[in-house]
Amino acid sequence: MKNLGIYIHIPFCRSKCPYCDFFSLVKTDTAAAYLEAVNCRLEQFQTGEYKADTLYIGGGTPSVLTGEQVASLIETAKKHYGTPAEITVECNPSDVDETFLRRIYAAGANRLSFGMQSAVASERRALGRRADRVQVENAVRLAADSGFANISLDLMLGIPHQTADSLHESICFCASLPVQHISAYILKIEEGTYFGKHRDALTLPDEDATADLYLQAVEELEAAGFRQYEISNFAKPGYESRHNLKYWHLEEYLGVGAAAHSFVGGRRFYYERDIAGFIAGAKPVDDGAGGDREEAVMLALRLREGVETALLSDSARKKIPFLKAQGYVTELDGRVAFTPQGFLISNTLITELTE
Ligand code: SF4
Repeated sequence: MKNLGIYIHIPFCRSKCPYCDFFSLVKTDTAAAYLEAVNCRLEQFQTGEYKADTLYIGGGTPSVLTGEQVASLIETAKKHYGTPAEITVECNPSDVDETFLRRIYAAGANRLSFGMQSAVASERRALGRRADRVQVENAVRLAADSGFANISLDLMLGIPHQTADSLHESICFCASLPVQHISAYILKIEEGTYFGKHRDALTLPDEDATADLYLQAVEELEAAGFRQYEISNFAKPGYESRHNLKYWHLEEYLGVGAAAHSFVGGRRFYYERDIAGFIAGAKPVDDGAGGDREEAVMLALRLREGVETALLSDSARKKIPFLKAQGYVTELDGRVAFTPQGFLISNTLITELTE
């Protein structure tokens, strides 16, 4: 049996955050039919070759569903693919209650990822987040009391009005809670979002200030025991996301649901951003072959562990001494890895090292 990571996309949210370009709709009247279609695709894909070692239910906002609905997805996945070692459910802190948490925990969920973004009220308001800081704290503590020992919080950097002091406040808040993992993303203004359309009205830290916020986050999170293991991800030892590591290690994963992407058998494919089409049985769209050496290098360079030097081309290897002298990369035990300063310009550096 081959290991497989399974991702299930729940394309529903209670409201649309102004910065978000993930595929999700506020209308949830098709949720029951959508879940039925997901369960059906999970069954159809299993050919007897796969066992799931991770399951990730993301979105959108899976916690707009009932505990029973989320549990049914987990139970279907387990029925066809065995019990994954890691089962993550993304949640909005203002959605969860004890009934929801206990039901999904009983079904096998053992990791939660809460969308927090900031612990500072004015920043949270600017991001359109519904829960306040007290609700975030209550949700995390309730999750821990319900049995969850692996909890992640999302933190956002470079957001409107953010300063070094306000970021420090958010990081101290995270460190005071029973959480084991932090995802810290720099805000990217995407075309088509509310922020994209009103970019000029936003009071954003400039590029240099955002870079400083990122380096501050790396330093403060590490000091709080959250070791950086990827550009945007930090964990206490042993709590790195097994599912997300699959993406960067080029391992196989099946994405089920509208807008979900897969990499199986050397091919990449995805479902269109179309809920009605998915319910009606639309087939995934082929996205070509994947998994070549260049892609392996690009993905591995996102990780703190970096890439084996031997995987780099001769011309890329020649650039390493210069990049080391600039403080962008380190070289240790036959591997090349970016420093936090290197992660800040990783797109440029990855192009340099893979062209
Ligand atoms: S950020 Fe999360 S909760 Fe907000 S619209 Fe996007 S998917 Fe939904």
